[in-house]
Amino acid sequence: MIKCFFYISFLLIPSLAWSNNLVFEISKLNLSQLKNSNSTLIILSTALITIIFILYIIAVIKRLAQKKRSGKKLKKEIEEHKKTAQSLKVSEERLHLAMQGSNDGLWDRDLVNNTVYYSERWKSMLGFTNEEFPNEIKAFEDRIHPDDYEMVMNEYENHLNKKTSYYENKFRLKHKDGHYIWILDRGKAIFNKDGVAIRVVGTHTDITEKQRIEDELHQYQAHLEEKVRERTKELQLAKEKAEESDKLKSAFLANMSHEIRTPMNAIVGFADLLSDHDLNDEQRQELIELINKNTNTLVYLIDDIIDIAKIEAGQLKLNKTETNINQILNDVFQSFIETNNLRDQGAVRLKLQKGITNDNFTIHTDPVRFQQILINLIGNAIKYTEKGSIECGYQVKAEQEKSYLEFYVKDTGVGIPKDKHQHIFERFSKVEDNKTKLYRGTGLGLTITKNLVEMLGGKIWLHSKENVGSTFHFTLPVEEFKGQLSEEPELNETLKDWKNNTILIAEDEDSNYRVLQMALRRTNIHILRAENGKEAIEICKSNKKINLVLMDLKMPVLNGIEATREIKKIRPELPIIAQTAYAMSEDKKTTLNVGCVDYLTKPIKRNVLISTLNKYLN
Ligand code: ADP
Repeated sequence: MIKCFFYISFLLIPSLAWSNNLVFEISKLNLSQLKNSNSTLIILSTALITIIFILYIIAVIKRLAQKKRSGKKLKKEIEEHKKTAQSLKVSEERLHLAMQGSNDGLWDRDLVNNTVYYSERWKSMLGFTNEEFPNEIKAFEDRIHPDDYEMVMNEYENHLNKKTSYYENKFRLKHKDGHYIWILDRGKAIFNKDGVAIRVVGTHTDITEKQRIEDELHQYQAHLEEKVRERTKELQLAKEKAEESDKLKSAFLANMSHEIRTPMNAIVGFADLLSDHDLNDEQRQELIELINKNTNTLVYLIDDIIDIAKIEAGQLKLNKTETNINQILNDVFQSFIETNNLRDQGAVRLKLQKGITNDNFTIHTDPVRFQQILINLIGNAIKYTEKGSIECGYQVKAEQEKSYLEFYVKDTGVGIPKDKHQHIFERFSKVEDNKTKLYRGTGLGLTITKNLVEMLGGKIWLHSKENVGSTFHFTLPVEEFKGQLSEEPELNETLKDWKNNTILIAEDEDSNYRVLQMALRRTNIHILRAENGKEAIEICKSNKKINLVLMDLKMPVLNGIEATREIKKIRPELPIIAQTAYAMSEDKKTTLNVGCVDYLTKPIKRNVLISTLNKYLN
């Protein structure tokens, strides 16, 4: 400005001096002189210089005004710049505070110069001091978990290629100690006007704890979901089972009604026919046999129902004793040969294969239940086989130094479809194929058989093919015999003459009394009757001739157990034989405890009754 003023003065002062001088010179000229051409030139020059001078002055003034204006603008700009710098500082401070507060680390990557900056916090997350960790991209990349590496790079590239509006990623970084920490990495790129990324800035958040909790939650959730799935499956199965069980029960009831009514019908019908006077002895005998056969069917059915009820209540008790295997096999086979009409026609052959030929061979098991298993399996084989053969036998085997017998019952019958193999052991289940033939049965036999085999320490399984045949296998352990040899009552069917004996039958049911009376009719025994326990005691007291009592257990006024107890007090030597329809082995024990010498289960067969009485009568 001063410089400018100096230049202006430098030019202005001589010009002014010269022009003043010129004006003075002109004033000295007169008009005529002015007409002189030289003078004209001087005047023009003076005017021109004056004009130039004025223009110059104007230009200087303009310039000065402009300078003043730009000075003001500059001042304003400087002030604005100061303000911007101030607010930048505030934002930087804010960012710094925010970073500190959030405990996040900062990274800043310059893609043009290929350099990177990691904040102190960024480094300390990995266990390093500021000096320990170099500001190098490779140093970071080397710490990425190998399983996450590709994913991290892809996400980063996607953002640089503008596929994502911001960059966010979760991955593992190796800590200085060697363990991995979980990082939440967030960033954003800055692009130049050509759309090329020149810088990326972001933060690292340590989410290891959060991730651990999340993982744990996931695990719990997965576990819970698994549990819910399992439980749902269980409930579904239970529901299906309950529905199936319901269906089976309905089928069972319908079937049971049929199974009871059929023999009952026969018994009632044949009994009615028996009263026909026109019948000859042979016809009468035939009717009696038919009644007996149907009665047996009913008794077996009732036995099955009682057995299944006992099994389900966990009340079925075993009576293990030394059991002659070959003997029982022979007996069962013999009884099937005798009772089965098929054999007479020769359509089905029965074969028996004993694994041990010594007839005295015994194992420690329950003989009654073993026999029941055989009867069920051989009975089924006969029922479901029209032609061919039925073979039964056993072999001695050993497993882990334990010997066992493996039995089999093989037939050439209708066979069982593969999908039914497991089901047939469930109660009430039958393989229904009414197309060819309707087989009678309740669907309880195999359930009872399986339970008995397992209670005796064995297992049961089958091989079967439709229209080819079935083989049922079961095992029984060979246990050392430890108890006493049981003495089975010898059945003596020879009729006795017991005319010198008096027997008291304590029985409230007329029909049951009649059965016993009829069974003993030909023995000439003298029979007295008591209709309840109290009467039985009175009669025993008053009649010393009585030398045996047949005591029903369930009677009105006083039951058989109480009556026996009292009679034993008066006449301890008097043999009392219990007779009951309960068929529970516990009852047998109770009666023996109160002093009964023996026990008969209803229905009582005549030969069993006679052979039992024979043990105690003269
Ligand atoms: P059921 O009284 O009906 O015979 P089980 O429990 O003894 O009852 O047998 C169940 C079902 O298994 C039978 O209804 C039958 O369909 C099938 N089954 C059992 N044994 C045989 C066999 N030897 N051959 C063919 N089917 C059999």
